[in-house]
Amino acid sequence: MAQVEFQEVVKRYGSFEAVKSVSFTVEDGEFVALVGPSGCGKTTTLNLIAGLLDLTGGAIRVGGRQINDLDPKDRDIAMVFQNYALYPNKTVRQNLGFPLRMRKVPKRELEEKVNDAARLLDITHLLDRRPRELSGGQQQRVALGRALVRDPQVFLMDEPLSNLDAKLRVQMRAELKRFHQDLNATVIYVTHDQLEAMTMADKMAVMSGGVLQQYDTPERVFEEPANVFVAGFVGSPAMNLLPARVVENGGAVQAAGEGWELALSPRNAASARRASGDAVILGARHSSLILHEEAAPGCIAAKIYTVEPTGDLTYAHVEVGGKTFVISLDPQRRIRADQPVWIEFDQDRLHLFDAVTEQRLP
Ligand code: ATP
Repeated sequence: MAQVEFQEVVKRYGSFEAVKSVSFTVEDGEFVALVGPSGCGKTTTLNLIAGLLDLTGGAIRVGGRQINDLDPKDRDIAMVFQNYALYPNKTVRQNLGFPLRMRKVPKRELEEKVNDAARLLDITHLLDRRPRELSGGQQQRVALGRALVRDPQVFLMDEPLSNLDAKLRVQMRAELKRFHQDLNATVIYVTHDQLEAMTMADKMAVMSGGVLQQYDTPERVFEEPANVFVAGFVGSPAMNLLPARVVENGGAVQAAGEGWELALSPRNAASARRASGDAVILGARHSSLILHEEAAPGCIAAKIYTVEPTGDLTYAHVEVGGKTFVISLDPQRRIRADQPVWIEFDQDRLHLFDAVTEQRLP
């Protein structure tokens, strides 16, 4: 296995820049999720590593060796696609052995590697079936096995679970994570699903508009999003974001919006003062807000818009200054639409962003 290093990688299609000077390093044995909305440049980035596209600028190194100009077949990288790309007329055994046969691996060794991969992925009993005789999850395991037998330096995966139904996706997510733990493999995994990235990856590379917005552990991306984009993208329901002005009021610092104001804690006041102007964006996760049914000091007055029970939690949609917030509640709470409520902010979990640069305020 090997480290993968991206150094100021640029990809242009004609005059359109799909990947804009992206730099990050995937350490040996790490599972990194490239995540972002449709069109953000994640598949392009993956295809640059695989050699399916040429770089416009920068460099990609695998195990310290620059691979930009290497032929895809010489890169020692295995790719698992979302459509599995299995040969329909070959058995599972033949599908698994195919990459080795192409490389003229001796028969004995080939059989051994195929059997080892089948054992690891628990598909030994399926070896004589053809792809159409397999479920989606089983086909996905065969596709993984075909990458595995090559014993590559790096695994690339492009939305490998997107064709599975929701329940199977959750199951395969755990299996893929286990697969990574058992092999200690370097994996670069493309997904638009932030939850998939959060649950599986050691690090997340969050992209938007061809720009790498943040590269960090899932915990840090969640707890300390680098900017407004990341704050809104990671976490479900999305972080509540509320534009505000910073007002100095006799030594105290307040954040104020349409018809509301909130006294900031000393730490948040210090952050707010670092903004380039007086405009900030407050960010609060649904779980960091407390809903009161009677007026309470330091709270913002609001009104319930609608209530969504999900079984485990109930989500209250609450109107504040022309915006709607989501607050999670214990399912036992009885709250009705149009009810007046008061919102308490947990200031230790409040996020502050500069409204102009949209960057997190330290
Ligand atoms: P998705 O999740 O929808 O696959 P993505 O994040 O993987 O999105 P890319 O496929 O990398 O996005 O595409 C990034 C941008 O580059 C998009 O705006 C896309 O329209 C553009 N693009 C991709 N391939 C080409 C091409 N061959 N020619 C021109 N533009 C392209």
